[in-house]
Amino acid sequence: TIDKVWLQSYPKEVPHTISYDESCLHDYLRRSTEKYPNHEALHFLGKDITYKELYEESKKFANQLLSIGVKKGDRVAIMLANCPQGVISYYGALMIGAVVVQTNPLYVERELEHQLIDSGAKVIICLDLVFPRVQKVRSKTNLEYVIVTSIKDYLPFPKNVLYPFVQKKTTGIKVEVVYNSHTIAFKPFLKAGTTKEVEIEMDPVEDLALLQYTGGTTGPAKGVMLTHQNLVVNTMQCIHWTYKTTPGKEKMLAVLPFFHVYGMTVCMNLSIMNGFTTVILPKFDIKDVLKTIEKQNITLFPGAPTMYVALINDPTIKDYDLSSIKACLSGAAPLPLEVQQKFETLTGGKLVEGYGLTETSPVAVANPIWGKRKSGSIGIPWPDTDVKVMSAETGESCEVGEVGEIAVRGPQVMKGYWNCPEETAQVFKEDWFLTGDMGYMDEEGYFYIVDRKKDMIIAGGFNIYPREIEEVLYEHEAIQEAVVIGVPDEYRGETVKTFVVLKEGRTLTEKELDQYCRKHLAAYKVPKYYEFRDELPKTLIGKILRRVLIEEEKEKLAEE
Ligand code: AMP
Repeated sequence: TIDKVWLQSYPKEVPHTISYDESCLHDYLRRSTEKYPNHEALHFLGKDITYKELYEESKKFANQLLSIGVKKGDRVAIMLANCPQGVISYYGALMIGAVVVQTNPLYVERELEHQLIDSGAKVIICLDLVFPRVQKVRSKTNLEYVIVTSIKDYLPFPKNVLYPFVQKKTTGIKVEVVYNSHTIAFKPFLKAGTTKEVEIEMDPVEDLALLQYTGGTTGPAKGVMLTHQNLVVNTMQCIHWTYKTTPGKEKMLAVLPFFHVYGMTVCMNLSIMNGFTTVILPKFDIKDVLKTIEKQNITLFPGAPTMYVALINDPTIKDYDLSSIKACLSGAAPLPLEVQQKFETLTGGKLVEGYGLTETSPVAVANPIWGKRKSGSIGIPWPDTDVKVMSAETGESCEVGEVGEIAVRGPQVMKGYWNCPEETAQVFKEDWFLTGDMGYMDEEGYFYIVDRKKDMIIAGGFNIYPREIEEVLYEHEAIQEAVVIGVPDEYRGETVKTFVVLKEGRTLTEKELDQYCRKHLAAYKVPKYYEFRDELPKTLIGKILRRVLIEEEKEKLAEE
């Protein structure tokens, strides 16, 4: 049982069940401000913002939103790179009971339009850089106000820094925005706000804090409804899991984007709830990350596997003192074993793998940081979280070691998909949420992901899980990154194609790679096609975009 599993990794004072208080997310900003008013809440490109300042600014923003008629339950979209304005807008909107809609600044017009129409957002806070895209779709949406900010707005942004999301230096950027009563400049808008306490009656269990869009690979993206309670619970579970950290003392590196639920909960919410300092980087740049860890004495650094891969392969990593690092959580995609080991050797800190989804706020399972952890495993269920493996045929629980669909039950599981009762019904079986990920549990209660249900390749009747092949490829000393997809095949229905990126200065021929795969994989899993690339398409969070590669292959086939 989970109690037994938990006890082998955690001391008695860290039980596997927690008592959660029924509060809203923004209540924790107030509490941390009461405890640590003059402590740095945020550090952004050379400037500190204390808890008191952050709280006051958030209240000002909240009062300004009220003044333009935004009410409890209204949706407020935030389309920003990581920056203080993002944190202020987020807490400000939550304080008045508005529902935050996190919007990826990379969205093209079509995606943005869908999200704004679907959520019915009344206000959007966006970067000047994306303003032209917002302006183009605006008339088709419910948007009443567009609040525009610039990274350079709030703080003196250093010259010649690469602006997030475009390969341009800050000095070279000019965006024309014509301001009027409905297109508002963030800075004066915020300045005009009062710091009056905002008192809105809220129910943390029922009231939504967030509509977080996910999916979109098989149809339009759906809004995941996360309540205040969902997010508070997941943040508290996270605090429980990092029990050796000290409130008010740690420094969190926030390079994961806040517009993804992972960056939002594990960097922003966790940090604010615990009185940590959030050191914000608007963009993942290897040198900036290394410099920041050294200079700021970063202790916590949640990330995605591709970030750790990039860091350990940078030849200058040894020139930096990274010994302040205590713990890193890798999530969002599988963490290759080799990467974990090398990162730990280079920094002396812990790097453990966790697992979750937008629908689970996001974390559901993780390896204990200081207890028994297993490489290749996503770990054990989080406090108060039940996880089981369900057979595709019978719907019953699988045996130990048997692969089935992972299902999760717990207080961090979403309320449902926004305006999508049918899709919601499809992913719930009684109170179990079906993740769409295939995996198994070992005899000690540790879980393993073998793949996404839909990524599985069926070749000549054999089920092939890309991850297994990718693990083997990552073990090759010349390979930096690898991804495996299924492509149509005349004889086998589908067959295996692999894309690899080599480490700098390394060479490897197709023949050598093929021989290597033959040595380490059963014949039916050996890729039929190999393609060497300089880089792989990725999301901003660092997930390799398998579907882009699949689409490219389909297009190639269609042309033939
Ligand atoms: P998202 O909702 O964007 O956070 O994506 C959730 C999906 O990311 C899951 O359904 C998994 O397929 C994948 N994922 C998250 N963590 C891991 C992990 N540690 N290993 C493998 N896949 C993961």
